[in-house]
Amino acid sequence: MPVNLLDFDAKGMEAWFAGLGEKPFRARQVLAWIHKRGAGEFAAMTDLAKDLRAKLEAKASIGLPEIVGDSTAADDTRKWLLKVDGANAVEAVFIPEAGRGTLCVSSQAGCTLDCAFCSTGKQGFNRNLTTAEIIGQLWLAEKLLGERTNAGSRARQGRHVSNVVFMGMGEPLLNLDAVIPALRLMLEDNAYGLSRRRVTVSTSGVIPGMDRLAAECPVALAVSLHAPNDALRDRLVPINRKYPIAQLLAACNRYLVHAPRDFITFEYVMLDGVNDSPTHARELVDIAARVRCKFNLIPFNPFQAVQGLGLHRSPQERIRRFAEVLQRAGLTTTTRKTRGEGIDAACGQLAGEVQDRTRRRGIPITEVRA
Ligand code: SAH
Ligand code: SF4
Repeated sequence: MPVNLLDFDAKGMEAWFAGLGEKPFRARQVLAWIHKRGAGEFAAMTDLAKDLRAKLEAKASIGLPEIVGDSTAADDTRKWLLKVDGANAVEAVFIPEAGRGTLCVSSQAGCTLDCAFCSTGKQGFNRNLTTAEIIGQLWLAEKLLGERTNAGSRARQGRHVSNVVFMGMGEPLLNLDAVIPALRLMLEDNAYGLSRRRVTVSTSGVIPGMDRLAAECPVALAVSLHAPNDALRDRLVPINRKYPIAQLLAACNRYLVHAPRDFITFEYVMLDGVNDSPTHARELVDIAARVRCKFNLIPFNPFQAVQGLGLHRSPQERIRRFAEVLQRAGLTTTTRKTRGEGIDAACGQLAGEVQDRTRRRGIPITEVRA
């Protein structure tokens, strides 16, 4: 099997080139060709010596996930379904907004953690993605967004993806061996050159992973809180039984020592009659006194498998009043706009339906959704 060069961050690439007897600057050149200039073939790397190109052709590949679905919602949110092997597909979602473009990437096929309201969790866990499969989502998004506007060279257009969030399928802090090199490529000047503040990892609260991320590659951190006390959080986010709120808040404070931003974003899914009362909001105010934070309220996105579980999206007015309690206490609180409706591109809906169908039929995913 040829080595997939998308699995390497800058250091990894240099080490592999050293093994070939090639100088570090050759590794840097190839890294830039692949990630900065979007080359998907060695033949395109015209300033490399012919014999080096031949060596690369023989020993290496630039292996990308296969695009099996590409759909755009009325609000221009665009979702790609990416096949990573015969049995698994993951999704990446691009959300254009004024002045920025956010790519939401997946880190695992499925998830082990089984949060009550999450479609990915309901699918069970299949496997960790590789670095190539994670960075491949960004590589492909840049390529495909470039083709669509097609207004000249990538350099002139500038980057389309200005922000990356790990809020697709999977728990990134349970796959750090692959996620950290992918993060380094996102930050690397010679690759994507994104600032640490514009790359956000979202976790359900895997404390050892938070400490490792802080030590090895601190980027912006979002924590899926979803409940203001352990009794409720134990039910909604089962990993809370292992890492309860007090320990989680302590880990947030340790993270903030290294973080590129001086706050943690707490995500909070709004579930009607479950976690959305004014009392819950006041409990959150007490939590916020212990960590520098902002709140992002996410209206629950229902999906098929959740029917019958009694989970519903909080009415708009209830979300507004909940936000008001937090804001009156001086806490920055935003409510996430629901994006990508009609193409199932919202949080917690990613790839769920396709995976379910695939499993039932027991065949590889070949479907392309318009
Ligand atoms: N595993 C990580 C990152 C992926 S999920 C985590 O849990 O943080 C990204 C965000 O979407 C998390 O805050 C998650 O709780 C939220 N989410 C999951 N399912 C959802 C749903 N059906 N509706 C709204 N938000 C959901
Ligand atoms: Fe996994 Fe995050 Fe979904 Fe929980 S919300 S099941 S941690 S992907």
